[in-house]
Amino acid sequence: MAEYLASIYGTEKDKVNCSFYFKIGACRHGERCSRKHVKPTFSQTMLIANMYRNANPEQSRLSLGEEQDTFDMFYEDVFTELASFGEVEEMIVCDNVGDHLVGNVYCQFRTEEDAGKAVESLNDRFYAGRPLYAELSPVTDFREACCRQNEISECNRGGFCNFMHLKHPSRSLRRDLQDGQRLTIREKRREARQRGDGERHRYEEDRRHTYTENTPGKHQGAYSSTVPEPMAM
Ligand SMILES: [Zn+2]
Ligand SMILES: [Zn+2]
Repeated sequence: MAEYLASIYGTEKDKVNCSFYFKIGACRHGERCSRKHVKPTFSQTMLIANMYRNANPEQSRLSLGEEQDTFDMFYEDVFTELASFGEVEEMIVCDNVGDHLVGNVYCQFRTEEDAGKAVESLNDRFYAGRPLYAELSPVTDFREACCRQNEISECNRGGFCNFMHLKHPSRSLRRDLQDGQRLTIREKRREARQRGDGERHRYEEDRRHTYTENTPGKHQGAYSSTVPEPMAM
């Protein structure tokens, strides 16, 4: 029985847990949903709800190119900020218009710890004058969360579809961000290695210090901090 329940967890067959929340991280019934939305305690994925303000294509005076530029600026801004918390594996932005998905930004980090740090910090922040709402998300696979119909051609539910329709940054921007992140990561690792070397040197100096300064019989051990005697004035 337990095995059966585990195998249907978060699927349509599961009568207890909401499959939409589990797979997409948001469901149109929100808090009033008759099935459970189980918020994860740990996750590599975090969600910033309703962050991107979609320009309404019918009212927008921007040309397609200008709209893409505006979106690229947003994407770069958010990606760079998120990457400051840790290595970003993937960041996506929803193009849906339904309340529960509009402007949602999802980010999958390499580690759960970094996703946790990002959520904690972003919840105290504002973007473009509006407070941010960040949470850990149960979504593990963005491909599963995306609308297949929309990927292949056109989805007949349009922006109100309950699966993710993605808004893509331009290819060159995506490449630049990934390359930039790779460089920064390499840089950080090198710094960490150098710091590690520095610490080893200091540790060896401390040991030498302890062994030479210590008077016999008053052994302090290599790990204790040697408190200097107060100098006579
Ligand atoms: Zn639900
Ligand atoms: Zn769709």
